[in-house]
Amino acid sequence: MIAIIGAGPGGLTLARVLHVHGIDAVVYERDASRTARPQGGMLDIRADSGQIAIREARLEDPFFRAARREGQDFVMLDRSGTVLLREDTPDDAPLLMPEIDRADLRDLLLDSLPEGTVRWGKALEAAEPLGGGRHLLRLADGTTAESDLIVGADGGNSRVRPLLCDDRPAYAGLTHIEGAIRDADRTHPDLAAQVGRGSYWALGPGLHLAAQRNGDGTVKVGIGARCPEGAHDGIDGPDAAAALLDGWHPDIVRLIRACEPPFTIRSVKVLPIGLTWTPQPGVTLLGDAAHLMPPTGFGANLALLDAAELALAIAAHPGDFEAAVAEYEPVMRDRATARAEFSTSIMEEMIADDAAQNMLRFFTGND
Ligand SMILES: Cc1cc2nc3c(=O)[nH]c(=O)nc-3n(C[C@H](O)[C@H](O)[C@H](O)COP(=O)(O)OP(=O)(O)OC[C@H]3O[C@@H](n4cnc5c(N)ncnc54)[C@H](O)[C@@H]3O)c2cc1C
Repeated sequence: MIAIIGAGPGGLTLARVLHVHGIDAVVYERDASRTARPQGGMLDIRADSGQIAIREARLEDPFFRAARREGQDFVMLDRSGTVLLREDTPDDAPLLMPEIDRADLRDLLLDSLPEGTVRWGKALEAAEPLGGGRHLLRLADGTTAESDLIVGADGGNSRVRPLLCDDRPAYAGLTHIEGAIRDADRTHPDLAAQVGRGSYWALGPGLHLAAQRNGDGTVKVGIGARCPEGAHDGIDGPDAAAALLDGWHPDIVRLIRACEPPFTIRSVKVLPIGLTWTPQPGVTLLGDAAHLMPPTGFGANLALLDAAELALAIAAHPGDFEAAVAEYEPVMRDRATARAEFSTSIMEEMIADDAAQNMLRFFTGND
């Protein structure tokens, strides 16, 4: 039995592509149900990675129906409110990185799986090797299960990763302070228009504000701050968050002021770049569990592509999980290492003192 731990984008894509190839798997998910927890904002699913997996999952049609072409719109300002860059998406623009709500992507994948594939409310506590590649899974509800292959798709704090290595995510020097303006077209039409159909970034020294329209009409607003870990844990509402933007253009500050409490404070954590381990029979990792990196728009795409490639390797080596994992892991690791190096350098440029100039150069290639 293939046991996939975690029903995030990676775990569900693995289950789906295996299903397409007639291979059964069980997904153990910590959440009590598909609606137990808000899934967060949007994901841009890229043609060169995530969309390849969507194709292998044979979900292209529903994916492109749910994806938002106009979500590719982008405007970037400096803290004085000067527009540095504006990219509006023409109606016939290629869907190179359309946005999709996380919840819509999750529903799409869940609905494509046979009933009972996902076991909700089943958090893995630990897995113990039984020999011969088999593992005993100890679940938080007191039950156990056994696996022939266990795949850790359980995110940055993976409970599967300790079977392979001792590394843990560490603070990356960036904290997100996240809020939301619900039903923005009705409650704050001026701010909704300011953000537009896609993403809106304002950049200052060591600090940025990012706002993004979601498919349900919510505008998510977040401040990213370079700071020691925990420095902003006390921020509990719009006034405290807005105080970080002292001296910024009032239109930018208004976006964070319009968010309703509670705010989410998230320390950005990362795994060591190029994380490696000695292969062990009957176990592997994918997505954030294998290569948690700064959130610069690649993580979910990599999780999807890892999942599709692992499923294809399993299908190509019937009954030989060791061969499948040996084919999958080096390719996954090389790709993730390159992306993590790139993501880390973007993150560092975004939280540098000259963030606005850095990002303008990044997007236009001009100084
Ligand atoms: C603010 C932000 C914005 C981002 N934007 C983008 C973007 O635009 N594009 C992009 O590609 N990436 C983006 N990312 C990164 C992306 O969210 C992750 O890389 C992606 O979700 C990883 O998918 P995953 O399936 O590996 O893990 P996760 O999405 O973390 O899913 C793990 C699943 O495992 C479950 N789980 C955890 N522990 C256990 C356990 N012990 N037992 C059972 N189940 C468990 C969790 O409940 C969850 O359902 C962003 C990240 C952040 C923080």
